[in-house]
Amino acid sequence: MVKYDTVLIRFGELSTKGKNRKDFINRLYGNVKYMLRDFESLEYRKAYDRIYIKIHDEDPEAIREKLKKVFGISSFSFTEKVASDLDAISDTCYRIAAETDKKTFKIITKRHDKSFPMRSDDINRAVAGRILKNTDLKVDVHDPELAIRIEVHREDTYITSEKIPGAGGYPAGINGKVLLLLSGGIDSPVAAYELMKRGLMVEAVHFASPPYTSEAARGKVLTLASMVSEYQGHMHVHVINFTDLQLQIYKTAGDPYAVTLMRRMMFRLAERTAKQVGALALGTGESIGQVASQTLESIACINDVVRIPVIRPLVCYDKVEIIDLARKIGTYETSILPFEDCCTIFDPKNPVTKPSVEKSEYFESQFDYEKMIEEALAASEDIVVSPEKNDEDFL
Ligand code: ATP
Ligand code: MG
Repeated sequence: MVKYDTVLIRFGELSTKGKNRKDFINRLYGNVKYMLRDFESLEYRKAYDRIYIKIHDEDPEAIREKLKKVFGISSFSFTEKVASDLDAISDTCYRIAAETDKKTFKIITKRHDKSFPMRSDDINRAVAGRILKNTDLKVDVHDPELAIRIEVHREDTYITSEKIPGAGGYPAGINGKVLLLLSGGIDSPVAAYELMKRGLMVEAVHFASPPYTSEAARGKVLTLASMVSEYQGHMHVHVINFTDLQLQIYKTAGDPYAVTLMRRMMFRLAERTAKQVGALALGTGESIGQVASQTLESIACINDVVRIPVIRPLVCYDKVEIIDLARKIGTYETSILPFEDCCTIFDPKNPVTKPSVEKSEYFESQFDYEKMIEEALAASEDIVVSPEKNDEDFL
């Protein structure tokens, strides 16, 4: 029996060198360990271009599912570790071949340590020769059913028949912090995932309008946050009470401008929250043209109230692409639960699609929003969610 005892983690060709590379690896190493924290007996080791995890009797399937969620991993494999010695290498490869029900194979050797006395091609030939002689397998170099990979390092060699694609991107948190406007919809949780994939630490801000929005709606947002928090470990969610501002906006401007003004107010609150928590950018789930508040004119008019950069990872995605991603990361079913959010509750019949900054400023001059913003920020809640806190805690 082949005993896959070592997980080998690849992070691809990093374009960065020196300190950045070290930071990348250290952060990835920490994130991998954190993701696998429930498996207490794993043993970890990091090297220049690989991370190794020695497994004992832990469930490989469970480890595989967790590792697929760690950003910064380009691929990983469950390998058998043997001494860097041709006989030992060939024994393991032969056993893999003997146990398979596949018909064609190929040997792919990579020498990470050039002091090994044979060249990669010669190793390929020697190992393939033994398999050809002792099994019914045939070689297919173009499209083999079974690819046996041999990674030769100085002391040890790692052998695997499977290369599992990783999540790609950068290790969560390595590229700084962003504050995401998180609603209970489909888009913003996907935006969280995309931002985290770029190595950003995501904190969220959510605007709730109790009693017009319910506890359940708030619970839904926190559940979504806890779902995506798995990719970075945990997540701060700043919940800001938006009721007074929202009522005031409706009183002052009425239907057509209400959404625009609400968004401008949300951006102001978010920019200040970002300053407080040390986030250098805001994030949103906006996508051009999706709804009235996401025309280019609306985006420009809303963006006008802040100086902080706003990152919109979904800006050019189709709705179907966003839904596919939401399904992939597991948030879709929760996102479509029918709870009101603070924008649907007042449900403007006739929102402007080409709002103007002048008109917005005119409406905003009618009331003292500065004071209201300060009050809302002072009462803001900071809730920390993690994957361990699931639906029951919030709904
Ligand atoms: P989503 O699925 O993210 O709710 P949406 O298609 O419903 O998106 P809008 O309601 O126009 O779009 O919201 C656009 C963006 O504004 C959201 O992606 C989110 O970033 C932000 N946003 C909207 N409502 C809220 C809220 N109540 N709290 C925090 N952010 C919000
Ligand atoms: Mg929404």
